[in-house]
Amino acid sequence: MTVHKIIKMGNPLLREEALPFTKKEITSSETKELVQSLWNTMEEYGGIGLAAPQIGVSKQLAIIKIEEDNERYPEAEESEEYVIFNPQLTYLEETRQGFWEGCLSVPGLRGLVFRPRKVQVDYFDEKAKKKTVILEDFLATVFQHELDHLFGKLFVDRLEDISTLVYEDELIALEEDKLAD
Ligand code: ZN
Repeated sequence: MTVHKIIKMGNPLLREEALPFTKKEITSSETKELVQSLWNTMEEYGGIGLAAPQIGVSKQLAIIKIEEDNERYPEAEESEEYVIFNPQLTYLEETRQGFWEGCLSVPGLRGLVFRPRKVQVDYFDEKAKKKTVILEDFLATVFQHELDHLFGKLFVDRLEDISTLVYEDELIALEEDKLAD
């Protein structure tokens, strides 16, 4: 079982625009292995999404799966498994929503990021079949966050207020305060 090291903010690979796959590449055995190692790595780190550039592969591929009771995002609803090649994003609503985003490439930190609430993503799945999904709420944010990785962007680039970039353990204290109020 291959588990990769996740590269962190500061590594220039995270700032590159990833290359698309050809249809032939999507169904190749090397790509199958790459997808499997992404799943293994994501599971090892306890994430809900991972993009190929985060393991140093600058290609347009990301995976997403929100497990119930995920440690990093305990309130998030469970999702199906998504393997996403060459995605294209369309905003379906102007309304934006804010979530405290984290990233396995920015360990220990969270930031409040506002993104469109509803999006459409067109992509190719593992069998190189064209797919279209419409996503809302938190899952829409997760998709936008992962897709950003394929275009050299990190959630910290999208912070509107830098003072909302906080350490995870302080955020927990912050949220508990809110609950106590
Ligand atoms: Zn990330």
